[in-house]
Formats: sequence, structure tokens, C-alpha cells
Amino acid sequence: MGIRTIGIVGAGAMGTGIANVAAMAGYDVVIRDIERSYVDRSLKTMDKFMARSVEKGKMSAAERQAALARVRGTTELEDLAAADFVIEAVLENMDLKKEVFQALDRLCRPEVILSTNTSSMSITAIAAVTQRPDKVCGLHFFNPAQIMRLVEVIRGMQTSDETIVKARDLAEALGKTAIEVKKDSPGFVVNRIMIPQFIEAARLLQEGVASVEDIDTAVKLGLNYPMGPFELMDFTGVDISYHVMEYFADEFRNNQYAAPQIIKQMVRANKLGKKTGGGFYQG
Ligand code: NAD
Repeated sequence: MGIRTIGIVGAGAMGTGIANVAAMAGYDVVIRDIERSYVDRSLKTMDKFMARSVEKGKMSAAERQAALARVRGTTELEDLAAADFVIEAVLENMDLKKEVFQALDRLCRPEVILSTNTSSMSITAIAAVTQRPDKVCGLHFFNPAQIMRLVEVIRGMQTSDETIVKARDLAEALGKTAIEVKKDSPGFVVNRIMIPQFIEAARLLQEGVASVEDIDTAVKLGLNYPMGPFELMDFTGVDISYHVMEYFADEFRNNQYAAPQIIKQMVRANKLGKKTGGGFYQG
């Protein structure tokens, strides 16, 4: 059976963005969070994004109405039983993800693919709590999912070729460019490249080699990146980078990946960037 309904677990930044993309691509969407207020906030965000898309001439008012009507927000996990493909986007916490996958495995039809949007965690470990590890894969969108064009399709140790093909086809049907990550390795491709750059930028800063602004300017103009490392950390949340660094250090047993002192201090001081208003730029 083809995919008509996409189930999304977690209506935060990523779940909302992915739901928005899926609805605009013509899929029915069921999006679940634990509190009604989170679901409502997510629906409102999609409404606003689509309103802007209408203003920009990217969709008509009728298409906006139809896309919004395809999204059903819920707090009931059982409602995901209707899904033909599931994308999990709850918090980056392994115990929580395992709990969600066990529940999904009980609820969803046996042929349904269960994917995770994890930024760094092991697909193999998440798949192992299910009775269908061959039908579990990573489907890693980037933030904001409405705009960013890449999706990493990640193979866990037991993921089947068929699952990878279907996940890749779905990513492409959502208008994204998919790349295949052939091995379940921490950080996959993009974060494996990005995190060491963040670490070196933070080391340059703490060694007094250059300022936050000058390091960002150097990277933007010298490497032709649209954002500098500090701007990007502020945007995604300094805490997220910190957790990924510590995770890498642990997984690779290599202290070169450990969070530099300055990042640790920012997290301790709760200067986390966009979410709280603090960060490298906002004081
Ligand atoms: P977020 O904090 O914005 O949203 C997570 C949501 O999950 C929250 O609304 C929370 O209430 C909800 N949730 C918690 N337990 C739940 C449950 N049992 N059922 C349903 N919902 C539940 O987080 P986010 O930034 O959207 O990240 C989600 C996932 O995507 C994480 O794994 C993260 O690593 C990954 N990711 C994040 C980014 C990013 O830049 N933010 C980019 C790519 C991937």
C-alpha cells in the first residue's frame, strides 16, 4: 500500500516543520504531542507559515485551506495507528525515544516504517526495542524543515534495503534531496562535519585568537558559508551542540570531541541561544 497518512510524534520545532512540509506535499498528517497547548501551538505555526507562503505566491489561499485541513493534531498516541509511515521527532533522549518506538510498534500495522529524526543517536539501538528492526531507519531533516532541502536517510544495522528505498522516495516526494548514510555512525554526515567546526571555533574564541564576530565573518567570507559557527549555535541552541559534543566524545572514546570549557559554561549559565534569548550574540 502507498503512503497516504504520515504520523508525526512530537509537535516541537522539527515535528511542526515536517508536518507542514508533508501537508503542503499533499499527505494527510496526524501529529501528536503530550499536551493540547503544544499541539495547538504547532497548528498555529503551520497556519502562519502557510499564510506567508500565500503572500509570497508559493501557494493559493485554497491550497492553504486544503493543506491545513489535512493536518490532524492529537494528544492520543493511539491516533497514530492510522499512519502509513511514522516520523518521530520527540526530545533528543534515548529512553524517551525507546518508549515511543515500543508504543508505535504495538500500535502501527506491521508493514509501517517507523523513522526517527534524531540528530545523533543510534538508529540500531532505537530499532532494537521493536519487533520490526528492518523497518526502522533515520530520517533526519534539518532546521527549519520547511526550508532546508537535505534529508539524511540513515541505515541502522538491521534496516532493510526496501525500507531505505521507501524512506528515500518519501523524502523526495516531500521535495527534499535525500542522501543515504550507509552506516549508523554518531552524527551521521552533516553533524559529524559540523560539530568539530563548532569545537574549533569555540577553542579559537577561548584561546583569544579572534572574537565571536570575527570568527563568524571569517567563516562566512572565507568559506562562503551562509552563517558563522556562533550564529548557527545560537540559532539551533547551544545546549544541543553541547549534548552532541559530549555524546561524540563518549561514543568515539575521544576527548577531542568533548565540549570546550566555554560551551560548558554557556550551558551552565543557561545562555542557550534562540530558545532563551541568551547565546554568543545576545549576551
Ligand atoms: P522540541 O523540543 O522543539 O520538540 C520536541 C517535542 O516533543 C516537544 O513539543 C515535546 O512536548 C514533545 N514530546 C515529548 N515527549 C513526547 C511523546 N511521548 N509523544 C509526543 N511528543 C512528545 O525539539 P526539536 O528541536 O523539534 O527536536 C526534535 C528531534 O529532532 C530531536 O531528536 C532533535 O535532536 C532532532 N532534530 C533537531 C533539530 C533542531 O535544530 N532543532 C534538527 C534536526 C533534528
